[in-house]
Amino acid sequence: MDLKDLEIELNNCNQCSFRKDCISPVGWYGNPESPIVFVGEGPGGVEDEYGCPLIGPSGQLLDKALWAAKMTRDRVLATNVIKCRPKNNRTPDVAEADFCGRAWLDKELQIIQPKVIVALGGVALHYLGTSEMRITRDRGQWFRTRQGFDCIATYHPAFLLRLYGKQLVTAKWDVFHDLEMARNRAAELAPGYQFMSEEKVDLFKLFHKRSM
Ligand code: SF4
Repeated sequence: MDLKDLEIELNNCNQCSFRKDCISPVGWYGNPESPIVFVGEGPGGVEDEYGCPLIGPSGQLLDKALWAAKMTRDRVLATNVIKCRPKNNRTPDVAEADFCGRAWLDKELQIIQPKVIVALGGVALHYLGTSEMRITRDRGQWFRTRQGFDCIATYHPAFLLRLYGKQLVTAKWDVFHDLEMARNRAAELAPGYQFMSEEKVDLFKLFHKRSM
């Protein structure tokens, strides 16, 4: 099975109650050959509308951080643990994330076989690592996911959007260093891979609004 086949199956998924409150599952975007994969929490309102992961305000901030770390969205791959937008954008609990992650994310990772994964935020960290891990304590440290991949966690961009002043500056630098470390490890393991295009990708030109 390749990602195209998986996407067709994902679009028909109706395995949990999240499906009834969203437009449609949101899969992944990027280069399936990428040695680095970014895993976020789940789609928000803009992501659900456009059918693209990390396209809303969080995604815009991620794109800036990637650019600073010499990566562009078309050259990496971004996805989420949960594929359907939870009602009122609430944070999914561990069991909910586990259910969708095992159904879809694990299959994506099996197909892509990334050299390096970056977990964005606590939900991704708990899913890929363990529920005891904490983003504030464990970000920036390498660990092996239970699926067998090298992973480093950093703050989810949505968290940065809630910070101000000195806290924001410190967190932005932390994210920059985490991304740089992840990119360097991926570059070592996939020599010659181009992580960056000449321009940032305008995802709103590639994806169009969907409706219920
Ligand atoms: S959240 Fe995941 S498991 Fe639930 S319906 Fe959507 S794709 Fe299927």
